[in-house]
Amino acid sequence: MPELPEVEVTRLGLAPHVEGAIVSDVVLRREGLRWPFPSQLKEKIVGKALLKTGRRGKYLLLHFSNGSVLIHLGMSGNLRIMPTGTVPQKHDHVDFVLGHQLIRLTDPRRFGAVLWHDAADGVIDEHLLLRNLGVEPLQDGFDAKLLFKQTRQRSAAIKQVLLAGDVVVGVGNIYASESLFQAGINPKTAAKRISLKRYEALASAIRQILAAAIVQGGSTLKDFVGADGKTGYFQQSYFVYDRAGAPCRVCQGIIRHIKQGQRSSFYCVNCQK
Ligand SMILES: [Zn+2]
Repeated sequence: MPELPEVEVTRLGLAPHVEGAIVSDVVLRREGLRWPFPSQLKEKIVGKALLKTGRRGKYLLLHFSNGSVLIHLGMSGNLRIMPTGTVPQKHDHVDFVLGHQLIRLTDPRRFGAVLWHDAADGVIDEHLLLRNLGVEPLQDGFDAKLLFKQTRQRSAAIKQVLLAGDVVVGVGNIYASESLFQAGINPKTAAKRISLKRYEALASAIRQILAAAIVQGGSTLKDFVGADGKTGYFQQSYFVYDRAGAPCRVCQGIIRHIKQGQRSSFYCVNCQK
């Protein structure tokens, strides 16, 4: 499943090719994905310049003078650039045609989304899907003090607070598990019991791990151009995620697997207290 780093890598890959280009057509090959496609999408953006790309959490944004397209990659989606006229395959649902090239949305499991936010409805940050998102982990405003302050009343486990996305956005299951390992915090610890000092370790781990994933993703998924571009998501070597029963890379203890709110958590009992 694409997480924040994949979405950011996608944005970084697309930006130099599409920013400033004029939309010449929008091709929708279905009624919608997770939700119906906006009925007026074509008339809103055809003839308009795609001014800038952006991202909020796992939503990729295409900004126009009259509003923004929100794209979510769902469980299995990806966006690539290819020459206009490239024959669509079975799971290619949407094309944003920009003259001689197009941005193609492929999504086999169809949990993705393409939505329109009109500038007349206010700033994009106030969109229903964005307005309750927590701070961006890679931007100013995300630090230990924020984590500490926002969790004083939260009895839930820290892992679940991270996944909830209302304190900090985009720290999905993999990155939450890995960050908690690096910070030495047991995923079951009640968020309100964690000290400011331990949150310093956690905030720094989250930033480092996400930034490293983006750098690595950039090199793994650099081919955004061309129909045969890579479609998979980058595999990294994890310390705990998906390593149940394997030896801890630090202490050789056995990595445990538990369920927290239907999601798998992986941790080392020796390294994480
Ligand atoms: Zn360990």
